[in-house]
Amino acid sequence: MTFDPKSGFSTRAIHAGNPPDTRTGAVAVPVYQTSTYAQEGLGRNKGYEYARSQNPTREALEENLASLENGAHGLAYASGLAATTNLLCLLKAGDHVVASNNMYGGTFRLFDQVFQNFGLSATYVDSSDLGAVEAAITPATRLLFVETPTNPLLTITDLTAIAQIAGKHKLISACDNTFATPYLQRPLESGIDVALHSTTKYLNGHSDMVGGALIVRREDLATRLRFLQNAVGAVPGPWDCWLALRGIKTLPLRMDRHQANAAQIAQFLVGQQKLQRLFYPGLPTHPGHELAKRQMSGFGGIVSLEFRDLDAGKRFAEGLRLFTLAESLGGVESLVTHPASMTHASVPRALREATGFTDGLVRLSVGCEDAADLLADVERGLAAV
Ligand code: PLP
Repeated sequence: MTFDPKSGFSTRAIHAGNPPDTRTGAVAVPVYQTSTYAQEGLGRNKGYEYARSQNPTREALEENLASLENGAHGLAYASGLAATTNLLCLLKAGDHVVASNNMYGGTFRLFDQVFQNFGLSATYVDSSDLGAVEAAITPATRLLFVETPTNPLLTITDLTAIAQIAGKHKLISACDNTFATPYLQRPLESGIDVALHSTTKYLNGHSDMVGGALIVRREDLATRLRFLQNAVGAVPGPWDCWLALRGIKTLPLRMDRHQANAAQIAQFLVGQQKLQRLFYPGLPTHPGHELAKRQMSGFGGIVSLEFRDLDAGKRFAEGLRLFTLAESLGGVESLVTHPASMTHASVPRALREATGFTDGLVRLSVGCEDAADLLADVERGLAAV
């Protein structure tokens, strides 16, 4: 079997990091369920000493992710937030971060309730407003952290411009690429230093593990992050790496289906009287539509809808039968979430409202079921409002 590392995306999704096992020929990477490795003598080993530091199943996932993001190094973690933790560990007390203001609530909580206690400070801005980003930079700023599309308002940020601003001010730039996945958007190709993922979501795609990843090109960042991955210790187990690797093999197929279904639902919802606002970057009315068209090769599988108040949003969410009411997103099964009380409950109301998301907001993670069944369910939800 020969695999050209310059092959197309789907070929790399299936083969990068996944060569047949040299001992047995097994076509699926083995799960190396071990905590340690026999050493041949003092200081002599096969490159594997202890499983927090090295694990072949994890390495397979890391190689695969590096290939898909067009990076040089992938690093896998126990969760998306563990990946963000390691990224923030590049900084030190006194440093300042400029971050997107409507990113995932857990990321905000990590900045605001954990790292702030260690002397990091952050300013949250609408990162689609490049002037606001630039204005928030202080002499202490070290990191520009954006999420695009954001969770849950699907705001689109110009990654090339963010990379340029970061370059001008000598900052590390990072992009949470969880919503788009490398199939639709590759931040490193726009000059961003670090691509970040919750692999829990589309990359795994089956709602059966929790994981995270960072992908970089810069050798200095790779060296420090590799040190931190081991030193901080938030590494994923080999089974979870294996599940992510298996999921990624069908990422392009799933994403095509997710976004075809999402586009149909968004189109169906256009003009619905019961909605205040509708968010989907694929709609020409979305403020980030033109940028998304240039920067992404598709618009993804998340649709957010705003009802007039909490009660209306609750009736819609509880009126659905096929969409499961649950946290998370990106699995083959459709989910519905109420961000204000679920995924973003840790974001103070004032900040939530300042960024434009209200108690009436509902987020749909559109799955891979039949579009007709999903549309019928959305109709059922609307009828309950
Ligand atoms: N980034 C985004 C955009 C997310 O939606 C999430 C989780 O929902 C995370 C990061 C955190 O990932 P994890 O739950 O794997 O820690």
